[in-house]
Amino acid sequence: MNASPLGITSKESQSRRGDRSSAKPIVRRALVGLLCGAASSIFLCSAVRSVGLGLFLGSLLGIAQVFAFFDLERGSAIDRAMTCAALGLPCWATINLILLPMVAGQEPQWTAEDMRSLFPALIGWLLFFLFLGALSQAARRVSEHFLGPESPRRAPSAPTKRTQVVILGGGFAGVTTAAHLEKQFRDDPTVSFTLISETNSWLFTPMLVEVAASGLEPTHIATPLRTSLKRTRVLRGRVTSIDLERRQIQVNEEGPQTGLHYDHLVLALGSVSNYSGNAAIAENAFEFKTLSDAMRIRNHIIDVFERAEAEPDLERRRALLTFLVAGGGFSGAELAGGLNDFARGMTADYLSLATAELRIILVHSRERILPELSESLADYAMRRMQERGVTFKPNTRVIDAEPGSVTLSSGEKIATETFIWTAGVSPSPILQELPVRHNDRGAVLVDRTLALPDYRDVWALGDGASVPDSKPGKTCPPTAQAATRQAAFLAKNIRASLLGRRLKPFRFRSLGSLCVVGHHTACAEMLGLKFSGLFAWLLWRGVYLSKLPSLERKVRIFTDWTLELFFPRDVVQTIDFDGSGSRQNEPEPTLR
Ligand SMILES: Cc1cc2nc3c(=O)[nH]c(=O)nc-3n(C[C@H](O)[C@H](O)[C@H](O)COP(=O)(O)OP(=O)(O)OC[C@H]3O[C@@H](n4cnc5c(N)ncnc54)[C@H](O)[C@@H]3O)c2cc1C
Repeated sequence: MNASPLGITSKESQSRRGDRSSAKPIVRRALVGLLCGAASSIFLCSAVRSVGLGLFLGSLLGIAQVFAFFDLERGSAIDRAMTCAALGLPCWATINLILLPMVAGQEPQWTAEDMRSLFPALIGWLLFFLFLGALSQAARRVSEHFLGPESPRRAPSAPTKRTQVVILGGGFAGVTTAAHLEKQFRDDPTVSFTLISETNSWLFTPMLVEVAASGLEPTHIATPLRTSLKRTRVLRGRVTSIDLERRQIQVNEEGPQTGLHYDHLVLALGSVSNYSGNAAIAENAFEFKTLSDAMRIRNHIIDVFERAEAEPDLERRRALLTFLVAGGGFSGAELAGGLNDFARGMTADYLSLATAELRIILVHSRERILPELSESLADYAMRRMQERGVTFKPNTRVIDAEPGSVTLSSGEKIATETFIWTAGVSPSPILQELPVRHNDRGAVLVDRTLALPDYRDVWALGDGASVPDSKPGKTCPPTAQAATRQAAFLAKNIRASLLGRRLKPFRFRSLGSLCVVGHHTACAEMLGLKFSGLFAWLLWRGVYLSKLPSLERKVRIFTDWTLELFFPRDVVQTIDFDGSGSRQNEPEPTLR
């Protein structure tokens, strides 16, 4: 009997080819989706005010849901139900707020008042998806029990050659690649995976602002790598060198050192803050990339409020209550909006401090903030933030900084104890040092298959890679959305490469962008449609809740959000400061 490089015998691969060509699993899935969708549509009929439409939509969404999500191996019925329930919000928005009014010849109903009147329909949608998720997962298990597995599992064969795939980086790109590789090689023990990351958890960066602004518990937005990945060996450590000729990775300069051999290497080390070589800025600014950064900022803000309340000198007090954010991209604008809400809310607890004393300043090098969004939405974001007290300094750069002050390109010197840098990132230094081709940012150049052109079996993706976009001459943006889609795609290409099949080219078209700019307000551009205000904010929450990696994190975040509706944000300080306020003197954040 012949064996393939993956340890699959020729007889087995023939039988698998036979299974694949069979249409049976498709029919079975469609039937499960149809029946579960029709049964769950009981909740939908009232939401769309028509039994026929409810039944039709329910059946259609039931089938779509089964094909989009269904994976029997992972997730309980309750997990599936929660993931599905998060789809209720965008569906309610699209159908009840936009499509149904438009079909009736009316304007879309997205004012706050309209939305309140349509709230019962939202409940209907949530219940529909909740029920559909649980029911379809249970139905799939029942069908598996009575009709047997959809595709017969291969009996493990004696491995001929073991393949070691090493993934560097435990962020969006690395973890999603590992999770998809686990799926791709589900039954193949000859391929093993190792993921190396300097942190033991995967950080959900879109919610980092809410940690800095004390809206969410820090650990709720990070998922342990070891619970996210089932078959992957997780190695916590810092990658210090990569030898592409000898296929060796070196981990940790201090402490126990590890050398690792790889057959396939995935570079997913992301990016670091880029201060354009300005050492004074690097030394005096707060970074905003990691969970520790967000915790440090949150604690520092509480600290300056404590000091401001006891400060008799008006100048010193003004500096303590001035918060300067450099960079008007997504993370800078979201952070300025979030800190503005947090700081203004805190004045309720600090009786001698008034909101009029607060200054939240956003410095941006271009004419308008949020260049990734269309002009009208960026203008809207700026207007709303200005109304709430944020000051903008457009066409301005930070050129110097020292403890207690920041100097701008306009010549203005601003006294502040809080200077946060979000104005630039560059790929991880390890990636920049590799003897491969880079773009002008230092990102590793890959071809459309995500492979490095000059080294076999080496792949790169995420923020540290320059990945060609669908449009000629363009590259994918450094976003989580691009990183996760590249990762799912890469896992398939690695499998194809190991099986000696043709690799496919990656195509990326952004689904849209979402940005929260403060209290219950966001801007969104999705599939060519623009949204703003409360509706966009609800959309942001619905979309990102559904993208959180596990049921447990979803429940924790949902609970934090619910509590936030009833209670003020927590101002308990969890890090000790020595009172000087300078960044260099601050300790590493540790939770007490
Ligand atoms: C505040 C903020 C908000 C954001 N909001 C959004 C958003 O709303 N939507 C969106 O699409 N994108 C958003 N992004 C961008 C998004 O986070 C990135 O595009 C995404 O994380 C890129 O994924 P990645 O895996 O390439 O890099 P990362 O997620 O940064 O992962 C890199 C990983 O490599 C590890 N690592 C780095 N160097 C080493 C080393 N030497 N040894 C071992 N491990 C190492 C890091 O610890 C990390 O785990 C945001 C980013 C920030 C900072």
